[in-house]
Amino acid sequence: MSEICTTCGLPQDLCVCETIAKETQEIKLYTIKKKFGKKYTVVEGIVGKEINLKDVTKRLKNALACGGTVKGDTIELQGDHRNKVKEHLIQLGFSSDTINVEQR
Ligand SMILES: [Zn+2]
Repeated sequence: MSEICTTCGLPQDLCVCETIAKETQEIKLYTIKKKFGKKYTVVEGIVGKEINLKDVTKRLKNALACGGTVKGDTIELQGDHRNKVKEHLIQLGFSSDTINVEQR
């Protein structure tokens, strides 16, 4: 017997909470400049206990072959990868409609 998810009421292996959470995020992608003019791509707006931010960060770092860290509720990735990050987030199950690439 698998456990029942207390949020959606489905067995854990059929639980839709993570899927729903991923489709309802309002994600912002933008770049910031840090010391020595280094650019970082910031992923802001991935919230909720259903989503493992560290796991998302790890996948993005692997996909982009860059460094990155979790800072509170945001992810900071070394370099300007806005468009690629969007593509990878979509591959991870996030909805393209809710990912906004900002020109800053
Ligand atoms: Zn669930």
